Order: sequence, then structure tokens, then C-alpha cells
Amino acid sequence: MKVCTTIADSRRALMGCNHPIGAILTMGALHEGHLALVRQARKECPTVVASIYVNPMQFDDQADLAIYPRDIQKDIRMLRDEGVDIVFTPIDSEMYPKEFGMWVEPGKVAGRLEGEHRPGHFRGVCTIVLKLFNTFHPDRSYFGQKDAQQLMVIRRMVEELALGIDIIAVPTVREHDGLALSSRNMNLSHAERQAAPVLYRALCLAKEFAMRGQGNTAHVREAMRECIAKEALATVDYVSIADAETLEELTAIDRPAVASLAVTIGTTRLIDNVLLAKAG
Ligand code: AMP
Repeated sequence: MKVCTTIADSRRALMGCNHPIGAILTMGALHEGHLALVRQARKECPTVVASIYVNPMQFDDQADLAIYPRDIQKDIRMLRDEGVDIVFTPIDSEMYPKEFGMWVEPGKVAGRLEGEHRPGHFRGVCTIVLKLFNTFHPDRSYFGQKDAQQLMVIRRMVEELALGIDIIAVPTVREHDGLALSSRNMNLSHAERQAAPVLYRALCLAKEFAMRGQGNTAHVREAMRECIAKEALATVDYVSIADAETLEELTAIDRPAVASLAVTIGTTRLIDNVLLAKAG
């Protein structure tokens, strides 16, 4: 596995590689969720490239950026063990050289949920993802369903800016108690870790309501909030039942929908989601 720290190096390493090239973009502190993306890419692509970069421009809160977990040497070992061909680990000045001023301004779907609660988040995400795509020129890129809105925003960007890359969604990897794997879980204390599965419990409630055909979303959101309120360490940021295509809030589950939420457990903000099928 070649470890590259500059765009020029990565391009050189990719020269003459067999296609399709599969790319996995991460912020490091890797776990089995990231590895699910890598493994799917490894199965489907003769060349697999991964990036590890904690993108400061997608953090609206500097304190959150400062405590984001990092362990680059361990990450590199994990990617090597999975048979990744090239890993790109740039420093900030490589991605945002002096005078950097060119941004991708994402549309409507980025304005809701995470976009509403973390201003500028998806502008930062789209800008860095486009730059990484332009570095690797992948044929395919693998994204987790765990970050459902990010997946939607990236799909839109690829379509609207005609990037010609297949965006492949990979199901969320969870712990045995339902907690979605996340680098941020490392920041949870023991008591917070015990509390954290409440996110998935609330999402499962939404699933049950949808399956039973009880599609009044006001009731569903209320039930989810009540479920989370029972957990003393949890504070709801938002609870949403939205159209799976547009992320517009729904009044009834009468089409493919996504239940999503953001909950702060202690001081750690976690997000999760499940897809909801209409009953019958
Ligand atoms: P991150 O390092 O958090 O930016 O995540 C990098 C990629 O891994 C994104 O496409 C995420 O959606 C994906 N990912 C993170 N956690 C999980 C998980 N538990 N299951 C599946 N994919 C995940």
C-alpha cells in the first residue's frame, strides 16, 4: 500500500492503475463501518484508494473539531490489512492552500436537518469531496447509509455537476445493541455508551409505526421524542420523518421515507437514521 500525502503523489500512484478505481473518503479513527465500505470496494474494484482527512471546513464548532478522535498510524495499518492500494493523508495546507476561495454551494437538500443545525457543514463536505474526487478520478465511490443526508447531497452534486462517478450506498454497521458505529463513539464515557443505543431504539419505534401502517408522523415523532426523553443523558437536537428523496418533512408515511435524528449524549452529538417502508 502506498501512503501519499500530496495530491501530486496520489495522482502519480494512480497512473496506469486498473479500472474501476473505487474511492472511500474518511475522516479517520476507522472502525468496522468504514471497513465495510473498503471491503465492498475491494470486491468490486481492482484499484482501491482511501483518504483520511479531518476536514476543518465541515465543522461549525471549533471545540468539536479539536476533540475529533485521530489515530493515523492505526488507520494506515487497518487499511493495509484490508488490501487498500493507496491511502491519501493530506495536511490542511495541501487541501486548503493560502488564498483558497472556491466553494461548492449545495442546494436545498443540504439546507435541512444537519445543514440547518450545522451551518456551512455541507458546503465544507461538498468542497472537500469534489477536491478528493478530482485528485483520484474514481469510477466509484462508497458512502455509508449512516450519513443518509450526506449520501443524498453527494449524489445530487455528482448528478448536477456531471461528475460521472457511481455513488454506492453501504448499509449502516451497528454494535450488537444497535448503536451505529461512529468515530465519535470513542468520546463516550461508560455511562454515555450505555445510554447511546437510545437513538436506535427511537428509530426502531418509527419503523414499527410505519410497518403497522400508523403513518401519522406527528405521533411518530412524539413517540420518538418520548423514548429519548426517558434517557437522562440524552438531549434531542432534531427528530425527522422525511421524504427519502427530498428530505421534506412528511405528515404521513405515504411514500419511501427516512427517519433520522441527532441526539447529544452527554457532550457527544450522534446522528443515525433508518429507511421506512410504507405499510402494505
Ligand atoms: P467519516 O469518517 O465519519 O467521515 O465516515 C466516512 C464514511 O464512512 C462515510 O461515507 C460514512 O457514512 C461511512 N460510515 C461511517 N460510519 C458508518 C457505519 N457505522 N456504517 C456504515 N458506514 C459508515
